[in-house]
Amino acid sequence: MSIKRVWVEDDCISCGSCESICPEVFEVIDISQVKEGVVFADFEAGITDAADNCPVSVIKFE
Ligand code: SF4
Repeated sequence: MSIKRVWVEDDCISCGSCESICPEVFEVIDISQVKEGVVFADFEAGITDAADNCPVSVIKFE
C-alpha cells in the first residue's frame, strides 16, 4: 500500500500519541494536524502505527 492522503477527523482529544509515534507527519497544536508537504509513502509504518494507537480512532489514511 502506498499512502496518498492522511487526515484527522473531528473529536481528536489532543492526547499527543500520534505526534510521539510519528512526529514527521503529525503535530498537535490545539488538536492534531497533518503536516504539509510530507511524502506519506516515506512514513507508512509510523502513520499506521499512529492510527492504530489513536484512542478515539480519528486518524484516517488512504
Ligand atoms: S492520537 Fe488521536 S486523539 Fe491523540 S492527538 Fe493524535 S489524533 Fe488526537
